[in-house]
Amino acid sequence: MKSYINNIKTLSIVMMSIFMLMKCTAPVDKAGEAGNGTQTSKERADIPENYKWKLTDMYATQADWEKAKEALPAKFEKVANYKGTLGKSASNLFNALEYLEGVVKELFMFGSYASMLSDSDIRESEPLGMDQEANQLYTKFGAAAAYIDPEILSIPEHKLNRFFKTEPKLEKYRQYIDNVYRVKTHTRNASEENLIAEAGIMQGNSNSIYSVFSNAEMPRAEVTLASGDKVVLDASTYALQRASTNREDRKLVFESFFGKLDEFKMTLGTQLYGKVKENMFVKNVRNYNSCLEASLNSNNIPTSVYHKLIENANKNLPTLHRYLDLKKRMMGVDELHYYDIYAPLVNDVDLKYSYEEGYDMVKKALAVLGDEYVNTLQEAFDGRWIDVYPNAGKRSGAYSNGSAYNVHPYILLNYNGQYEDVGTLAHELGHTMHSYFSNKNQPFINANYPIFLAEVASTANEALLMDHVLKQIDDPQIKLSILGNYLENARATLFRQTQFAEFELKIHELAEKGESLTGEKFSEIYLEILKKYYGHEDGVMVIDDVYAIEWAYIPHFYYNFYVFQYSTSFTASTMLAEQMLNGGEEMVDNYIDFLSSGSSEYAIPTLKKVGIDMETDEPFEVTMARMNKVMDNIEAILDEIG
Ligand SMILES: [Zn+2]
Repeated sequence: MKSYINNIKTLSIVMMSIFMLMKCTAPVDKAGEAGNGTQTSKERADIPENYKWKLTDMYATQADWEKAKEALPAKFEKVANYKGTLGKSASNLFNALEYLEGVVKELFMFGSYASMLSDSDIRESEPLGMDQEANQLYTKFGAAAAYIDPEILSIPEHKLNRFFKTEPKLEKYRQYIDNVYRVKTHTRNASEENLIAEAGIMQGNSNSIYSVFSNAEMPRAEVTLASGDKVVLDASTYALQRASTNREDRKLVFESFFGKLDEFKMTLGTQLYGKVKENMFVKNVRNYNSCLEASLNSNNIPTSVYHKLIENANKNLPTLHRYLDLKKRMMGVDELHYYDIYAPLVNDVDLKYSYEEGYDMVKKALAVLGDEYVNTLQEAFDGRWIDVYPNAGKRSGAYSNGSAYNVHPYILLNYNGQYEDVGTLAHELGHTMHSYFSNKNQPFINANYPIFLAEVASTANEALLMDHVLKQIDDPQIKLSILGNYLENARATLFRQTQFAEFELKIHELAEKGESLTGEKFSEIYLEILKKYYGHEDGVMVIDDVYAIEWAYIPHFYYNFYVFQYSTSFTASTMLAEQMLNGGEEMVDNYIDFLSSGSSEYAIPTLKKVGIDMETDEPFEVTMARMNKVMDNIEAILDEIG
């Protein structure tokens, strides 16, 4: 998932619009896990209609969309006309917010239509143009609505309290206003805010330079594989070749890829230090105790949640090491190296599922979630909420888009019939059902779920799917493959992302102490953490020094304390799935309430309501118990088949 929301300090509606248009990509998109696009020669016209999403549910014809476009600027003007009135009376405030809410709601659907039309075939210039037009309108709207949050902040608190008493309809906007107020102590006076806004022009440079350099201009290593094939190692060929079944190839690919990055250590280090300094600037001018606090405050997440995650990962490294030892056993090698990390655990398991079979499996796996959930899954299938197959020019990956509030959520897939594709379907349906329940039960203003919760519903579905599939399968090789897949996912999502989070915290702490950072220093810190996680000293896995540069491969370090949420989502969803499988109907009702809550409350209390307290060790411990149970299972199968 991309993060466009790094520097939100007040959750304005304008920002929320960007937030909500964020699309969740398939789980492969986690930091350092980027997968490959799907290639197909099939033209979109050759795919039967019932496998394509029904965008006409939003606008019956393109002319209707054009009509909406013509009408929007006048509505923006009306938004701007409320300026200077918000503090005058409770009804003024209500009217302004209600009007604004309606415009944003329309804008979301307007933009979603264009972007989904364009994603269907990105080679088509007309939809691309529509998407660009929508983006221009966002910017215009942003300018028209920029006064809202500062003006709310200028209303004295006692007056605002009185507003809530005299105008009960304002209650709907309480959470929104609370969010604006919550960061008030970190808001400066008007002229200082202007200066800070001006400084914004310099923000994002380090990220842009990193992105251009690492994606485009950086020279690539070229290797000759055992087959004699020559391969230029960019991000996607690296992602493909690192999982090669040939060990010598893996070693060569790893060493060449990271060796090349290491040649640019000073440049890459200066870039990352630039980003750290940017975060330092925000921390200082906004008066936070730490960069971590400054970042987490935008979603009202206590820093203790972050610290607890790191503490728990460190405490439970023996569970990760058990998995690595198991991998060593299954691969039949004496010594496990870092370049073995993506090697397949089991060879030659080829499971194929038609889309109908896959959908049916997912429906059965999620039957535990009750009638409304399952009936809505059927509605999504019948009502063409989903764009199923790849076609030439279609956007790669997968996402769910819940922005068309009055219509229904949509899903983009590139379904190829692999077991992994069924997992992606379950994952995206998790997001879609989260949007469905929140959109249905919350007013638009509170419908979008917070980013901290975004991956909970999706990964909970994956857990339920695995549980279901394992009960249906007898073939030990297939079982090993599915269980192994789970463990690898736990490593990549929970431990690896926490390892990144620990690195991110460490470099910011050093900067806060006044230390300057270089590529050399980043590598030194990274290597120490990497060796600790993979048990280098204990002989679990050999980490050669060349991998110290891996930090330079992770774009998420420019996202400002983002990756830890992959880990926390994983533990929260594991605990939820366990509860639903063991806890019966009451737990399911709780879960549906959770899905229905949108952003009507902050993320941590929302989870607490369903019995998940992210400020305790419990979610992590439950996840470790599950990992160990899966490993018990694998060992039993291995002992049986010898
Ligand atoms: Zn997702």
